[in-house]
Amino acid sequence: MHAKNLFAVIITFVLLTIVLPAQDQDAMKKTAAVRFSADMLDKTVDPCSDFYTYACGKWSVQNPIPSDRSSWGRFDELAERGQYIVHDILEKAAVERADRTANEQKIGDYYASCMDKSAIEKAGTKPLSLDFENIAAMQSKKDLPRQIAVLHSEGADALFGFDSGSDFKNADQIIAQLDQGGLGMPDRDYYFKDDPKSVELRQKYVAHMQKMFELLGDKPDKAAAEAKVVMEIETGLAKGALDSTSRRDPQKIYHKMSDEELAALNSMFDWNAYFKAVNAPKFDSLNVVEPEFIKQMQSVLDAHSLDDWKVYLRWHVVHSAALILPSAFVNENFEFFSKTLQGTKELRPRWKRCVSYADDDLGEAIGQIYVQQTFGAQGKERTLAMVQALERSLGADIQSLPWMGDDTKKQALVKLAAITNRIGYPDKWRDYSAMRIVRGDAFGNAERANQYDMHRRLDKIGKPLDKRNWPYPPMTVNASYNANENNITFPAGILQPPFYDNQADDAMNFGAIGAVIGHELTHGFDDQGSQFDAEGNLRDWWTASDKEKFEERTACIRDQYGSFVAVDDIKLNGKLTLGENTADNGGMRIAYMALLSALAGKEPAPIDGLTAEQRFFLGWANAWCQNRADALKRMLANIDPHSPAKYRVNGTISNMPEFREAYHCAANAAMVNQNACRVW
Ligand SMILES: [Zn+2]
Repeated sequence: MHAKNLFAVIITFVLLTIVLPAQDQDAMKKTAAVRFSADMLDKTVDPCSDFYTYACGKWSVQNPIPSDRSSWGRFDELAERGQYIVHDILEKAAVERADRTANEQKIGDYYASCMDKSAIEKAGTKPLSLDFENIAAMQSKKDLPRQIAVLHSEGADALFGFDSGSDFKNADQIIAQLDQGGLGMPDRDYYFKDDPKSVELRQKYVAHMQKMFELLGDKPDKAAAEAKVVMEIETGLAKGALDSTSRRDPQKIYHKMSDEELAALNSMFDWNAYFKAVNAPKFDSLNVVEPEFIKQMQSVLDAHSLDDWKVYLRWHVVHSAALILPSAFVNENFEFFSKTLQGTKELRPRWKRCVSYADDDLGEAIGQIYVQQTFGAQGKERTLAMVQALERSLGADIQSLPWMGDDTKKQALVKLAAITNRIGYPDKWRDYSAMRIVRGDAFGNAERANQYDMHRRLDKIGKPLDKRNWPYPPMTVNASYNANENNITFPAGILQPPFYDNQADDAMNFGAIGAVIGHELTHGFDDQGSQFDAEGNLRDWWTASDKEKFEERTACIRDQYGSFVAVDDIKLNGKLTLGENTADNGGMRIAYMALLSALAGKEPAPIDGLTAEQRFFLGWANAWCQNRADALKRMLANIDPHSPAKYRVNGTISNMPEFREAYHCAANAAMVNQNACRVW
């Protein structure tokens, strides 16, 4: 139901929490794969002047953003198909039969309850009343830790974040992680930027909070004052929060401390009372992700009265529950978070929202059925063969790098050899037996799912890392590299057209899924991943002079992408997107090398008049065709470490002389970067 915390060093291929599957298409189209064809190309555009538009211009015109979306791309078409399959699974499981398995009962009743609009309307805000009573009954700020623990277990992001994760310097061990949090807006910068658009967004956020308080029954004057209090508290907390770009630097988010050291940062908050109330296993050290935040939290705690804190907690209760409350709350939440922030015109149909929530809360229970229906052993074998081809290419690439010395090369090859691959679905499925799902109780189900998940995550503290745990369910259209585990994950959801097409030629597949695999492998060696070693530990394995040359080369990519316009006058943040852009460039480079090895010197006959080399680049570009609302472009420029689709295509290929050759571009063509960047 609620966005789960993914710890910083799990690097995904696309942003996970923003891309939600949706769109009503007619039933005939729903499960048909949309394969690449040369008819998709806009032949009025010169591929050497704008390759993305050559590949995607026609698609963009023919596929406007559906009204219930802020973005629509080839990714979403695929996610949409997955959503229809999941919908079918849930509808079947929702039929009450005696022979349902335990997981079928859970997913079916969860879905049926979510769909039961009249029961949700009838319950009103009653499900919130216990939390509200307990908040109102607080006697002093000393009661905050216990109440915050309750809210965290229910999925609310109040005051700070608490989770488990690998110890960066001893990656096999899971430790407690205390992080910044407690903000309603997407990022700390939203609280401080002074351009007119940001000022307007803050006003609208305060107006939204006021409306939510009014929906809870508060008079407009009181609700307005309450919204102002929450804004003051959140702004205070945001002051101590680290920005998104800095949070990509593992050195800046690793501060292992003892209980006493934590208490010294902030003695006003009784940490031990919180850890006990949230049922965390005992521990004697933890990672305080951003100590400045914990210090700042103390001054905010001090600066506000108990009554202010009651208002703040009440806000986070209603905010985190909004999606599963009566429609007045759902609609008001949509108005600010989807319409204003992201440019979505209308709310998705209920069944699509319920499918998404079920994915979030019971993803692996659904995933077990999903992979039985969609993913055969053949898919796993062919993907594995491709991964191995890409790994061989990266090895050859490392060995041939002109700028890297032998000592560092040796270490890089050790790291590459240690990368493990997870393809399709997890070997060990999550056990949901401890989660109780009750038909007719949508709110309680979501709450219990959050409690289950909090317990699942905190239970890992003090235990060895279990690499069998996946960060998302197998129907997800995404892929990832985990720096602490030194592994890559390719869920069944992405192993389909336009990424992987068993009817397509090698060139298309190497340009699409091959480059995605290469992208994830390269993450092990980008500005972030390169700081972790073969065992997943934060340890410098570079010689100083090689590191210097690496940084010169990544600076080229930083500056190149930093000059691209995201929307209006907003440029991309070259530093925030550096890891992803490095991974795209490295991924395309080694995928191209892997294609050449697969072709083994033979030039296949052109298909639709396109050579294998030309089709390779089209495989990449076609997977990226996408339309986005301006509001979303603006939001993602602030928080998304991934560049927009157009630059993931044009920025990358303009660095490749192989592209210029494949399309016979003039030396001064727009798609030929005069100062071509290359790291890997
Ligand atoms: Zn990535």
